[in-house]
Amino acid sequence: MSRDYDVVIIGSGPAGFSCAMQSSKFDQNVLIVESHKDYLGGTWINTGTVPSKALREAAKTILEFNDQFGDHENKKPYERFRMADLLQYKQEILEKENRKVKNDLIKNKVDVARGVGRLKDSHTVEVETHFGTTETYTANYILLCTGNSPIEPTNFDIDHNKVLDYKSILDLTHVPRRLVVIGSSVNAFEYATTFAALGTRVTILHEQQNYMTFLDHEIKEHLERSLKNKDITVRSGVSIEEVEFNPLRNNTEVKFRSLTGDKRLQVIETEHVLHLNGKRPNVEGLNLDKAGVETDENDFVVVDETYKTNVDSIYAAGDLVGFPRLASASFTQGRLAACNMFGIPTLEVPEQIPYGVYSIPEISNIGLTEQEAKEQGIDITVGRAYFKNIAKADMTNHDEGLLKLVFSTDSLKLLGVHILGDEAANLIHLGQAVIASEGDVRYFIQHVMNYPTLSEAYRIAAFNGVNRVYQTGSKYKKILGEQAE
Ligand SMILES: Cc1cc2nc3c(=O)[nH]c(=O)nc-3n(C[C@H](O)[C@H](O)[C@H](O)COP(=O)(O)OP(=O)(O)OC[C@H]3O[C@@H](n4cnc5c(N)ncnc54)[C@H](O)[C@@H]3O)c2cc1C
Repeated sequence: MSRDYDVVIIGSGPAGFSCAMQSSKFDQNVLIVESHKDYLGGTWINTGTVPSKALREAAKTILEFNDQFGDHENKKPYERFRMADLLQYKQEILEKENRKVKNDLIKNKVDVARGVGRLKDSHTVEVETHFGTTETYTANYILLCTGNSPIEPTNFDIDHNKVLDYKSILDLTHVPRRLVVIGSSVNAFEYATTFAALGTRVTILHEQQNYMTFLDHEIKEHLERSLKNKDITVRSGVSIEEVEFNPLRNNTEVKFRSLTGDKRLQVIETEHVLHLNGKRPNVEGLNLDKAGVETDENDFVVVDETYKTNVDSIYAAGDLVGFPRLASASFTQGRLAACNMFGIPTLEVPEQIPYGVYSIPEISNIGLTEQEAKEQGIDITVGRAYFKNIAKADMTNHDEGLLKLVFSTDSLKLLGVHILGDEAANLIHLGQAVIASEGDVRYFIQHVMNYPTLSEAYRIAAFNGVNRVYQTGSKYKKILGEQAE
């Protein structure tokens, strides 16, 4: 049967975009349905990844300027730099990225329909346009990738003026003197350190007893020290009772209690509150039931390793299918969905992917932490390099942090890399390549790397680790010799 398109994609975020690009490279006819009136690119370009990181880069530059050249007038960054300039910087990047996506889709002959998409049946998508009309498209395949949305708090309102979410924080007109961040997601720490860099006094409040439990324990300890040095207070294990604007004191009061110990009501006065607590998949209105698409108990669309749902013609990818809910993984998932739809099955998303936390300083990790390896009974050794011992870090005034290697004591096989420090999210890829090729830490010792670079941390950490394993000279020589043979 002839249908309008080979694939109709609902959502133009990284999952939809990469599926569209890969499908068009396979000479398939592609339509993307996007509900945003003006922009393509979803949370990735417009409200999440790109704008938050653009703001962070601007804040980091300001922090570096202050750190390096001193604060002669004893002024806080927010007294020297206007939020409007930072937002303008973010906006220009956002517009640039939007143009790139649009041009790529045009170049690759991908059609775009603007409006809210929903399933009519397993091969048909209805689009309610912004003009109130309904268009219908049939397709051999459908990709669902509508992303997710923040979960609204139940005991206070997000008014997008004093109390903000990840979208309205991008419209702040000034750098606040005080900010309370509610939540313990990675984004909560990213925004907390971004605003702290601008001189804002930040408090993080969250319900869990612990946060970022996926981090290696030493990296976490460094993070805690770093937050303390930046005067960022973290209150774990608290429940938020009320968030209310007090017109008499012209500030917002956040009332909370500790979930353990002294449960007295406590109050923090703040200029703004940023709520970043949980997200839910955008399945509402997709009419999944019309095609019989299954979801799990948290409403995530259930897919197999090829990103196919329980309905043969319908695939799903990105935040809509749950963990890890990252733009990085969504790109790969969307592309793999296209490969599987059009009979060119390719590898699955590798089990081990790097995670990046764009706090200031940055954190990134891949593979086993020291504590995970020990829990699994693996005999491991760690090697550390502190940024303060790396020439490039001195030159760039980025001497905070460390790179830690976790490797098998017997085989020296690299099992994990954990970095806190400048460019961590970039640096991790060298470790990722060695882990993916099942290599060992000798790689970092025996290969010549550019100098001075932050990558030197790998060499120093490898020496540090190997020295620990092979304390005596003869054994040490043996291990380096084995690789050379
Ligand atoms: C503040 C913040 C910072 C982040 N930082 C990072 C980071 O540094 N690195 C990283 O890897 N990830 C980051 N993420 C996560 C990343 O943005 C998401 O994982 C990624 O965008 C998910 O891609 P997606 O394609 O699933 O959905 P999205 O990017 O959310 O796109 C979904 C699209 O579908 C559209 N849509 C929804 N419903 C319909 C419908 N019914 N019809 C038509 N269109 C519809 C939406 O308008 C949207 O354009 C961040 C997220 C946030 C919120």
